[in-house]
Amino acid sequence: MKTRSVRARLVSSYILLVSLCLVLVATFVTWRLQRQYMTTYGSVVLTQSRIISRMLEQYVAEGERDVARLERLAQEFRWRPDLTITVRSPAAVAGDAPPELVAALRGEPAQVVRDDAATGEQRVFAAAPVAAGGQTVAVVHLSVPTGWVWVQLRRMLPQLGIALFIGLVAAWLVGGRLARSLVEPIDELTRIAARMSAGDLAQSVRPRGPDEIGRLGEMFNQMADRLRATITTVTAEQTKLAAVMAAMVDGVIATDRSGRVMLANRAATELLGWAPGAPGRDGIGWPRLRAVLDDAAAYGRVTAEELPPSETADRLVEVHCAPLPGDGRPGGAVAVLRDVTELRRLERARRELTANVSHELRTPLTSIKGFAETLLAGAMRDERTCRHFLEIIDQEANRLVKLVDDLLDLSRLESKRLSLELGQVRVGDVVAEAVTKMRQLAGGRALELHPAPGDVTVLADRDRLAQVMTNLLDNAIKFTPDGGRIAVGWRTLNGEVEVTVADDGPGIAPADLPHIFERFYKTDRSRAAAAGGTGLGLAITKHIVEAHGGRIRVASAPGQGTTFAFTLPRDAD
Ligand code: ADP
Repeated sequence: MKTRSVRARLVSSYILLVSLCLVLVATFVTWRLQRQYMTTYGSVVLTQSRIISRMLEQYVAEGERDVARLERLAQEFRWRPDLTITVRSPAAVAGDAPPELVAALRGEPAQVVRDDAATGEQRVFAAAPVAAGGQTVAVVHLSVPTGWVWVQLRRMLPQLGIALFIGLVAAWLVGGRLARSLVEPIDELTRIAARMSAGDLAQSVRPRGPDEIGRLGEMFNQMADRLRATITTVTAEQTKLAAVMAAMVDGVIATDRSGRVMLANRAATELLGWAPGAPGRDGIGWPRLRAVLDDAAAYGRVTAEELPPSETADRLVEVHCAPLPGDGRPGGAVAVLRDVTELRRLERARRELTANVSHELRTPLTSIKGFAETLLAGAMRDERTCRHFLEIIDQEANRLVKLVDDLLDLSRLESKRLSLELGQVRVGDVVAEAVTKMRQLAGGRALELHPAPGDVTVLADRDRLAQVMTNLLDNAIKFTPDGGRIAVGWRTLNGEVEVTVADDGPGIAPADLPHIFERFYKTDRSRAAAAGGTGLGLAITKHIVEAHGGRIRVASAPGQGTTFAFTLPRDAD
């Protein structure tokens, strides 16, 4: 159904009301006029009948008694063609004569409006007696159609029509004006409200007088001011909240009662591996997380637990979940997710370190304690035994000192507290010095040096570089049996210097290879072959090389020897 505008409805009802009033007034006026005309017309006809009867009375007084002649004489008074004048003798008037004739016979002129029995037409009838010597000798009977009255009235119709038309036009103009004055402010309010709902809040209604519409506009403006202030506050709060959420390292997700995600910060999105944009309920791919959120939203349960690693893509995630306040019951749930992978790794590393250090310290300490007790129990009396035991105690003490030194070194390197004393170092010199020094320990192994032609300088800490060489050579000598061969060399390669220490010893099993740079890592074979190692040497070596901006790698296969190679960036000059 087509809805008509308020304006059209107002104007049309106004016009309808005015035309109804006009029609009513016109009908009433016409009715009154018709009655008035009829009365006047009736008395005119009655007067005429009396005048004619007076004239005829004169003829009668002069001796004229023939009714037919009197009637002919009476015809002289006809003033309209549709007027009928009859003169009747009282004898000719029948008993059921019309009322005006009956009255005239009694000597009283009378007038009646009635339908003509012969034609059925409505006419004005009048009758007057013609008297002579106190006797009614004849009756004058006049009749004329009432149509004349209608003719007169019909003449007024155009004027009535014009009046009606003017009334309608006036009603249309006034109604239109009124409707416009009512509808325009409403239209303006609607337009402004539409713009505001589309986001343009800088809108206000033009002030209009103190009437109801003016007050409506004023209230609208006040409401808009309030809305603007509220939205500004809410936006500021939201911006603050968004900034805080974005800056948070912990992930935050909030769900509504149905479990749909309403909010998730960047950290949560990354942690849960979601695509940008908050997913729906099914998007929380981690069942346990969904369960704790549902529990909080449904029963107000507060949970703090670590999510099962099977769900969390190899990450350890701690979740704290609480219900969101609602109207009497929880309105949803909020969860804070913390990636504790690194924390747990560090905790484990600390535990392992303590266990490893205790284990490494225990062997030499037990040995020292054992020999010291044996000495005290009497072995010290034998000088040779005493000396032998004291030498062992000294060796074990040296081992302890080396272990503690290595630990301190590693701790400094790992905490980045080690400051390198960088200087221009000629690689060839450091390598050659280390080979010369270690040759004394090489025993039956051939220690060969294959220097590159020329020399290269690197920006390095000379002592630390020497420590790297010593560690690698020490291992090579330790793990290569007598008669074996150790080759040391260096070369320049793409802006870097690569130093290699290769031996033809027993090699390292593939399963051990990825771990040998870990602290305290020792292969089983080495435990047997070279007790005394701390398992810290390669960890320290790796840290030193990386602190210089280089890399270290190892290539080995069981029975085919081992090659360590480390690189250092060449000095720019
Ligand atoms: P350690 O003090 O035991 O030598 P490192 O960190 O220097 O500790 O070495 C770790 C382990 O790597 C050794 O225990 C040994 O098993 C293995 N390894 C190191 N260098 C060699 C090599 N040249 N040949 C065979 N195995 C080696």
